[in-house]
This record gives sequence, C-alpha cells and structure tokens, in this order.
Amino acid sequence: MIALEDVAKAYGLGAGDAAPPTVALADVTLAIGQGEFVCLCGPSGSGKSTLLNIIGCLARPTAGMYRLDGRAVGGLNEDQLAALRRDVFGFVFQRANLLDDASALDNVEVPAIYRGVGRCARRRRALDLLRGLGAGDRAQYAASELSGGQRQRVGICRALMNGGRVILADEPTAALDAERADESLGQLAELASQGHTVIVASHDPKVARAAARRVELLDGRVVADSGAAPADAPTSAVPPPAKGAPLAVAAAALRTGLAAIRRAPLRSTLAGLSVAVGVWSVTSMLGLAAGVYGEATAVIGRLGAEMITVGQGIDMERMAPAIELTRDDVAAIASLPNVYAASVRNGPVGTVTMRRGGRQTEVGVAGWSGGTLPQWLWKEYEVAEGRHLTAADDLRKADVAVLSAPVRQQMFAPEVDPVGETVLMAGRTFTVVGVFAPHTIFNTPLYRDDRGFVDNSVWVPASVCEEWPTPGGIGNVEVRVRSPALVERTGAAIRDLLIRRHGPAAEKALVSLDGDTLRQHDAIMRNRVGVLGGLGAVGLLAGGLGIAAAMLAAVAQRRREIALRMAVGARRRDIAWQFLAESMMVGLIGALAGAALGFATGAAVETAMTPVAFAPWVVASVICGAIAVSALFGIVPARRAAAVDAAEELAAD
Ligand code: ADP
Ligand code: MG
Repeated sequence: MIALEDVAKAYGLGAGDAAPPTVALADVTLAIGQGEFVCLCGPSGSGKSTLLNIIGCLARPTAGMYRLDGRAVGGLNEDQLAALRRDVFGFVFQRANLLDDASALDNVEVPAIYRGVGRCARRRRALDLLRGLGAGDRAQYAASELSGGQRQRVGICRALMNGGRVILADEPTAALDAERADESLGQLAELASQGHTVIVASHDPKVARAAARRVELLDGRVVADSGAAPADAPTSAVPPPAKGAPLAVAAAALRTGLAAIRRAPLRSTLAGLSVAVGVWSVTSMLGLAAGVYGEATAVIGRLGAEMITVGQGIDMERMAPAIELTRDDVAAIASLPNVYAASVRNGPVGTVTMRRGGRQTEVGVAGWSGGTLPQWLWKEYEVAEGRHLTAADDLRKADVAVLSAPVRQQMFAPEVDPVGETVLMAGRTFTVVGVFAPHTIFNTPLYRDDRGFVDNSVWVPASVCEEWPTPGGIGNVEVRVRSPALVERTGAAIRDLLIRRHGPAAEKALVSLDGDTLRQHDAIMRNRVGVLGGLGAVGLLAGGLGIAAAMLAAVAQRRREIALRMAVGARRRDIAWQFLAESMMVGLIGALAGAALGFATGAAVETAMTPVAFAPWVVASVICGAIAVSALFGIVPARRAAAVDAAEELAAD
C-alpha cells in the first residue's frame, strides 16, 4: 500500500542558503502494507519524524519515489495532498497537539470540517469516537484541561475522524507515564488489528517492542527492518471519501472565526474599533453633507429649478423688442406638453413714488398675471400678510397691490394692518391685498437707497402693469415645467412655437432656462457630497490597516493551529478563507458599531446645529464598503496564514 523507493529528504537546499544542506533521509526504500503496525525507531535526529511526514504527505521528498496504493504521490498538487491527509491519513502528534482553546469534541471533528461533513453528522461521529475510547465524558472539556492520556485519546479520535486508514503517530508515548503509555500502545495495536495501518515513530524501546514490525533508522538511512510487508489485509472499514460540501466548510470557517474573535477580545475589539471609527467618520460626514445638500435642494426647489423665462428679446438693428408677446402667446405656451402653467410678469419697471398719508417711498412696479398657479410659483416670495394676486385680479384689471416687506416697512407702522388700506401710485389708488415675507435670494427687483440694496417691488396685476405707469405690453412669460429634467426640451419647444407664431424674428426672443444656474449648483453640491464622502472613506482605509495589523498578529500567534489544520486535511485556500472570514466578521461588527456611532453623532449635531440626513442605502453601502475594505486588508494576513509550512511548524515543538 505504501511504497517508498530511494526516498531522500534534504533541508537547506534553497538557492540563497550558505550552509551545506542537512540530509534528513537518504535512500529509504520501504514498503508497508494495509493493517501493519510498524515502529520507525532510532535515536533522536535519525529522521523518523521526517519519514513519517513524508508518508503522511505533509512533506515532500527531495528525491525518490513514493507510491500510495500504486499512485505516484510526487505528481499530486497541494490540494490533492491535502485531500490525502484528510481522507487517508490520521496524525497523532507528540502530546497529541490539540487546539488548546477548543473542546475535545471540537478537536476531534476538525478533519471532518475539511471534508465538508455537516455539523450534526460531524458531532455525532466525534462523540461516538470519544465514547469508543472511553473519553465521552470529557467531550466538552477544553483540551487544555485534559490529562496527557486524555489528550492522546482525543488525538487518536481526531486521526480516526475521517476513517484514518493510516494512523501516523510521532512519539506517542513521549509525554505519558508508563501506565498511560501502555494504554496508548494498546489502543494503537487494537487499531492495527482492526485493519488500520499504524506507523509510529519513536525512540522508546517499549514502543518498538509493542509494534509488530520495526524499521530502524540511523542518520536518515534504514539500517534494519524486522519484516517485509505482508500482503495487504483488506479489512479496514474506511468510509468512502465524501464529496466536500463548500457550505459546511464556510459555516465552519465562520464559527471558527467567531470563536477566535472571542478568544482574543482585546485584539478583535481594537481592530473592530479601527473599522468603527472609519465607518463613523464616513457616515457622519455623508450624513452632514446630505443634510446640507437636502436643505440646499429644498431651497433650490422653492426657487424653481423648473422655470423658464420667455422674454421679447432685442433686435439690435432696430433697437426694438424682437417680438411683441401677446396673451395668445401665453395661452399657446401654457398648452404645450410638459408645461404646468405660464404667467405674465411685467417689470419691475422704472420707479414711481408711493404715497400714503404723510409717508412716501420710491417703488419698482411689477406685474403678475396670477392665474391658476400654485402658491410656490411665487418663488421665494411667500405671503406674510393678506393674499397673493390672483387670475381674477388680472382679469378685472383690479387696482390691488402686494407689497414687498421693505415697502411695507416704509409705508406702514409695524402695528398697522396694511391689508385693505389704500396707497397712491402715479395718481392711481391701489388697495393693498397682501405683503410678502422678507427674502434673501437676489433675483428680485433691487433698489439702492440710503439703506443699501433693498427689494422695493410692488406687485400689481399684469393687465394693469401692461398699460400703467407707462404702456409696455407683456414683459416676460414665466413658464413652469413639470420637472427640472424637462426644462431643456420644453425651452426648445417654446422657441419653435414662437418662431411659428412670429417668424424668424423670434430667433432673437429670449428663452432663458432660469434653473440653469440652480441645476449647476445642484451638480456642484452633489460633487461636494461625493468629495466629503471620499474624505471620510480615508477613515475606512485606516480601519483596514487596523484589521491587517491585528490579523497579522493573529496569524503569527496561531501558526501551530494553522499547521494542525493543514495536517488534518485543510487546503491552503481553506486556511486563507478562514482568516479572511475572520477579518470580514471583525469588519462587520466594527462597521455596525461605527454606523451606530454615526447615527448618534448625527442626532446630536442635528439638535445642536445643522440638518443631518442618513439615507438607508448610503449607510448600507458604507457598511458593505467597510466589509470590503476589511476583506481587502485581510488578504495579506490570509495569504500569510495559507503559506505556513505545516511540517516545519509541527516539528518546532
Ligand atoms: P527524529 O524525528 O528522528 O528525531 P527528524 O526527522 O526530526 O529526526 O530530523 C532528522 C534530521 O533532519 C535532523 O538532523 C534534523 O535536525 C533535521 N531537520 C528536521 N527538520 C528540519 C528542518 N525543518 N530544517 C532543517 N533541518 C531539519
Ligand atoms: Mg522526531
């Protein structure tokens, strides 16, 4: 079954090594059959462990041929070797070499994890094995709490977990007293009698006596062999290799990761905190930025990013308006698709003097046709007292006026209710129907006087303003489109319409998309939010670095665990995934904590000063980003874990 031919192993063959290579094995030719109980004996340093590791596919020979069941092992890749360790071999190391923090049961089931056996089946078999060796009552004990004899039994159970067709034991009696040593040898002999091939490496003469066959090594060479391989005894009841279920492996990796996090709470907490701080900074930055952006967007909305202004334009040759806009034009524009409403706005035209009682002030007269427009079309003008102008006012050419806040202040004492009062402008009496609230955005008629720039506008029905104080016709048409996205298209439609109605002169008419600057502002704001988020994301990188540092430390500390897992059949990629999963879990926990901190900060800041807005998708993507960064920064530690040389690591103690 096992056939070695001129197998040699030398250490220190690396190109850069100055020292001469150490020859650990030379010209070993050996055949071992199924069901044999073989002891590799010889003094310390004779190459017993090296030979055992080569047989167990944990190390590769540097020369010679190794055949297992007639198959050349030298041609197998690393994953295939791992599969052999997993399904064929069972290692029982010196002092059993268990995962000390894990329970006896957990230790026994490890080989089945890498075989893809589900958790329940795994635990059932592990418990059966422990019971079989009389250690069932110790199943839940941590390995570190077990006696030497118990550890040895757990080690044997682990070796049997996937069948253990070949049991390899390195110095199994080294850490045991005489009685336990005999017991352990009895168990190994029993396994051999059941059909397992048992190969023991030991310098203990007692072991050599117990074994059916002794192969003596000296300086890496076989110097004596008490018997040739008998014909294979086909008695072993080894279960056929199961098809590895990736899900079981992944679930076990998560469970192992969680256990590792719990075992190193300080390191995990610090690593998690570094991610938490990163996520905290991104979420609060984005929250703040989005809050400010939202506020600005609300203002922009009020200002009417959906507005188009149509003017008459100027024909420079004639020095006259390019076209005369009419009320029919207004109606035609209003009935274009996507146009919500169209209103006439005149002026503000040149100043007139407003008089009332002993008070007077210069005002700019502006006309508005009102119409069925919703209130917000008055842009930032909100009515503070009374009402707006209406379509009915326009139709009736009513002598009514709405005053800007500064004009009201000039003409009326604060305690006086101006609504219903009359004022005199250019010899005409108007009834005040409303007053606008003060506003700060400068797209309104401004007038400079001794108070600086003030809004001195007074709004009267457009139909009045068209003839008074001077005949001026329709000034501008204010068009509201159904959505900002339709502004451009509708602007072009209006131009086409005017050209149809007024001829080529209408090319010079003014169709200005009021919202242009607002839309640019919007783009700029979005950009800034992105930049802020990007700055915050730098914090995420810091989190990733924290994870990388913590995980590198974890790998350094857990090299023996990694080697053990590899020895029982973990492929390098299984190990890499395990550590990657651990990084991602730390990242996830950190990210959730960071998001919670971000929310808390946001709430505090919001009550204190500025609006904060947390979009769920933003928070979700920040958390995903944090996990991605954790995974990214976990790659180097994971690769380092996967690169552990199991044989060397296990020989170190
Ligand atoms: P034994 O198990 O019989 O004590 P080993 O197989 O452990 O012997 O070692 C055989 C020889 O190989 C020794 O001289 C030892 O120093 C050497 N050796 C074993 N492992 C390594 C290694 N990883 N690097 C260099 N030399 C090694
Ligand atoms: Mg040894």
